[in-house]
Order: sequence, then C-alpha cells, then structure tokens
Amino acid sequence: NNSWYFRNSLVRANYKNFEKNIFDDISYLEKFFYNLLSDTKYELKNRYTHIDYVQSVTSIDSKCKGCTLEEQAIINILKVNPAINQEEIAKQIMEDYKGKDIVFLCILKGSIFLTVELAKRIKNNIQFEFIEVSSYEGHESTGKIKLNKDISGVIEGKDIIIIEDIVDTGRTLSFLKEYLLDKQIASLKICTLLDKPSRRVMPIEVDYIGFEIENKFVVGYGLDDNQNYRNLNYVGYIEE
Ligand code: 5GP
Repeated sequence: NNSWYFRNSLVRANYKNFEKNIFDDISYLEKFFYNLLSDTKYELKNRYTHIDYVQSVTSIDSKCKGCTLEEQAIINILKVNPAINQEEIAKQIMEDYKGKDIVFLCILKGSIFLTVELAKRIKNNIQFEFIEVSSYEGHESTGKIKLNKDISGVIEGKDIIIIEDIVDTGRTLSFLKEYLLDKQIASLKICTLLDKPSRRVMPIEVDYIGFEIENKFVVGYGLDDNQNYRNLNYVGYIEE
C-alpha cells in the first residue's frame, strides 16, 4: 500500500532529522508531532479535494544509498490530488469539444503527466504534438523563452489544446500563442495543472486550471528542480 509506505518513509525520515536536530532546535519536537498529526489527517481524509500544506520535511542526503526520492529531498508536500481535478477538466473538455478531434500540444517536459492522465479520461480522438521550451534557470525565470524542440506534425486547421504544467509569469504561453498565430490553426485553448496568478507579468487567459497555488517553487508530477523529482506522484514545494 503506497500511502502506508509513504507515511512510514516520512516518519522514518523525520526520526533521522529529529535525532540530528534535537539539541539544536527544541521546537523540532513540536513540528515532529504536528507532522504525525498531519499525516494521520492525510490518511483519514485520504481523497483530499483542495490544496493545503502539510509541514512534512524529509531529510536531505543525496549520498544515502538505497534511499527513496522522498528520503533524499527536502520537500514539503502541497496536498494536491491532481486526479480529482483531472476528472473535472476531462469532462469539461468533452463538453466543449463534442464530436471533434483534438490535438494536445504537450509542453515538454513538465506536462507529460497531465497530458497522459487527461488523455486517458477523454473519449474524443486525440492527436499528440510536443514542443519543448524553457525559461527557468534553477528556481528563477530568466524572462527569455528558448525553443528547444519544435512541433513535428501538421497542426494547420486543427483544434489545439496547449497542455501546460504551471503558469507562472505567463511569458511561455504568450510566446506560444504568438508562435501558433502563424500556423492557421482552427482554435486554441489552454489547460494547466497549476497556476501561480500572483506572479503574472503577461496577461494570459487560461481555459482549464487544475489548482491555483501561492508563490512557491513546486516539483513533482512532471515538474522538476534541475531535472530531478519529476516522477514524484504528488506536487511538493522545495524549502527555500
Ligand atoms: P512562465 O513562462 O509562465 O513564467 O513559466 C512557465 C514555465 O516555468 C513552466 O512551464 C515551468 O517549466 C517553469 N516553472 C514556473 N514555475 C515553476 C515552479 O514552481 N516549479 C517548476 N518546477 N517549474 C516552474
């Protein structure tokens, strides 16, 4: 059972931290029990329906042989169950595109999870195209968009939905919208798993939003930190 294993690994990791920090930081004790309580809440609620934060901090030890990804990382878990909103978004897309084929334009690499999970829930015929752009260096947006891989198929005349992992400043999507203007596509909508509206620089309308989040650097569920953590099956934020 995944959640059981996961909870155990957190508890184990917390013990490790606890031992290390007890003499330095007595408040750790409070945190430790708070974590345990939160984890129990997590277990009971099980199918969480909205975002809230659990202060579960695992230890960082990248040299730890045989450690799981969770045990290596300092990651706070943003309690998001993407599956719940994916169901809703998939239903909405099927409503909006009745009888039509759709092209999912997956923005590599962060959107791979959302692209697959949404596609599995949609009954329309979906074609897949991929484009890779980047704008982040470390945890900072450079403000410049780099096109790393272009679309390989024909998208002229097609109904496109851009599948994005997270909308931050909005620069990537502005760039892509501009880029697609030349391609004579039939229609364009945008879907994102996460939205950080407080960071917006470019105004951008997003048609389907999984979750709005505050200004945290998040990882997991496709999102990376320097190419790591993409395969966490939840969204977490890195302790800055
Ligand atoms: P924007 O162009 O809207 O500023 O940023 C969009 C891209 O920046 C996203 O597709 C993603 O690659 C990256 N990004 C923005 N915020 C985050 C974040 O919190 N975590 C990660 N891993 N990437 C982010």
